[in-house]
Amino acid sequence: MNIKQIPRPISGGLILSYKCSAECRHCIYACSQRWPSDWISEENLEMILKQLSGKILSDTYGPRTTGLNSGLHFTGGEPFLNFELLCKAVEIADKLNIPSMFVETNCFWAVDDKFTKEKLKILKKKGLRGIMISVNPFYLEYVPFERTDRAIRISLDVFGKNVMVYQLEYYKKFKNWGLHDKIPFEEYLKLENKEDFLRNVEFFATGRAPYRLKDVLKDIFPLLSAEYFFKEKCITPFLRSWHNHFDNYGNFIPGFCAGISLGDCRELDRLLKEGIDLDQFPVLRFLIEENMYGLYKFAKEKGFKDLETGYLSKCHLCMELRRFLFLNYEFQELKPKEFYNHLD
Ligand code: SF4
Ligand code: SF4
Repeated sequence: MNIKQIPRPISGGLILSYKCSAECRHCIYACSQRWPSDWISEENLEMILKQLSGKILSDTYGPRTTGLNSGLHFTGGEPFLNFELLCKAVEIADKLNIPSMFVETNCFWAVDDKFTKEKLKILKKKGLRGIMISVNPFYLEYVPFERTDRAIRISLDVFGKNVMVYQLEYYKKFKNWGLHDKIPFEEYLKLENKEDFLRNVEFFATGRAPYRLKDVLKDIFPLLSAEYFFKEKCITPFLRSWHNHFDNYGNFIPGFCAGISLGDCRELDRLLKEGIDLDQFPVLRFLIEENMYGLYKFAKEKGFKDLETGYLSKCHLCMELRRFLFLNYEFQELKPKEFYNHLD
């Protein structure tokens, strides 16, 4: 046996489903409308929240305040697609005294003032402390800017200082430009030149991004051969206590490493007590003990063929290796399965 202990999670996101009203080019979890409506069951919701209760810590200024990397957030996919379930999740988490609870949204649902205020007030009454609103050119392809603007304005009324706008710089920029409606990404690049865009926008070169943004990104992320990434370590993003994710299928997803499961978060206490036997999960073992080189060598021995074009990032290489292993073999740690079918 080769046991590795997992750090106790102190903050993170609960994915209610991977279904989304949008299909953003940079989406880490490759969410879209095409995912099945596998919303988390009430039973799993209860089980996971009970496991997280007592572990999730408050934001610096207390349990009623929120911060991007503290407390617990409800996410997806788009949580407002199933408002009833979102309400249920907030209610249960509140009863369990989970601190610094907020929801992350793309605002597609903020169609008018009355409706928007109503929804936010309901959530607040049920115990939600705040909201995180996503703004950047990728969301603008799917969500009319008026809705984002409305949701921010009304959220400030309802949640006060517990409103997080990510990225605030883009919100200010879009307001100054007087933007309306949605804007296709290619059109957007006529408004902000590519160099500025690449300097300003924040996202991870993982998930869907390497597949849908390769042509735009290759100016800042030159395509490199696999060897270039061999020495890069994954242990920090991989085994950490903060900002992990827990999904509707019961997967404990390390950090932002979509498509990898450390185990069943419905049995988090057991997982934390017993640790993971890395001998049973070779993909985890390579990523933890041998960095990208270990996983690359393993996949090569199993028949992996390098992309002739090269890779945008360490995570791009990691996903190509994992996708190959997923499609040709069976590894329990490569979950959820649908993730690998929705990348491009
Ligand atoms: S980034 Fe957010 S809004 Fe965009 S597809 Fe992913 S989950 Fe949906
Ligand atoms: S390379 Fe893989 S394991 Fe490492 S941070 Fe990226 S997605 Fe996670």
